[in-house]
Amino acid sequence: MSESRLREEICRYGRSLFERGLTPGSSGNISLRLDDGGWLVTPTNASLGFLDPARISRLDSAGRLVSGDKPTKEIPLHAALYESRGSARAIVHLHSTHAVALTMLPEIDPRAALPPMTPYYLMRAGETALVPYYRPGDPAVADAIRGLAGKYSSVLLANHGPVVAGDSLEAAVFATEELEETAKLYLLLRNLNPRYLTPDQVSDLVQTFGLDLPSHHDHDGHDHG
Ligand SMILES: [Zn+2]
Repeated sequence: MSESRLREEICRYGRSLFERGLTPGSSGNISLRLDDGGWLVTPTNASLGFLDPARISRLDSAGRLVSGDKPTKEIPLHAALYESRGSARAIVHLHSTHAVALTMLPEIDPRAALPPMTPYYLMRAGETALVPYYRPGDPAVADAIRGLAGKYSSVLLANHGPVVAGDSLEAAVFATEELEETAKLYLLLRNLNPRYLTPDQVSDLVQTFGLDLPSHHDHDGHDHG
């Protein structure tokens, strides 16, 4: 896809996310990695609902601004996730209500922030890590993401929001939406003793669709006693 088409895609998905209330005000940002190693990134203080393709920040492979407006100050988040997920081509970061709410609950497992509730959550978002709170723009958040060793394509920042990588912008957007909807389901069902997918049902998805789930790495991929 040409760079001008990619710029339009960022604006189109950004507007769609904003109009559905998935990230308010000027929150949230989107980045894309280009074939030359450079990036397209949404500018700082820009609402995802009103992006201008010509003003999107164009960075070179060293992260220097080549053209467009000043990039989002959340660049360290994106850089750390690209660095640890070699296949990632796009990253979406939102301040979406249910995913943010989830990060503040006491019972959340930082290595599996959501239980296996639906097949599409596992197929699109995989499992989700939770990293502790950092002040926005704090470079230490990048170390926390690197500490996950690339095992997670979706990460929740405590009291802040989700950061999700995909092998295309569409994949990253769809995974972020699936994460938000699953967080919403979790909050709807919390304390109601819901039935989640069983370990056998999860294993069946992993094998049928070749899912790359960190919990299956830890347990060598097949054994779920
Ligand atoms: Zn943010």
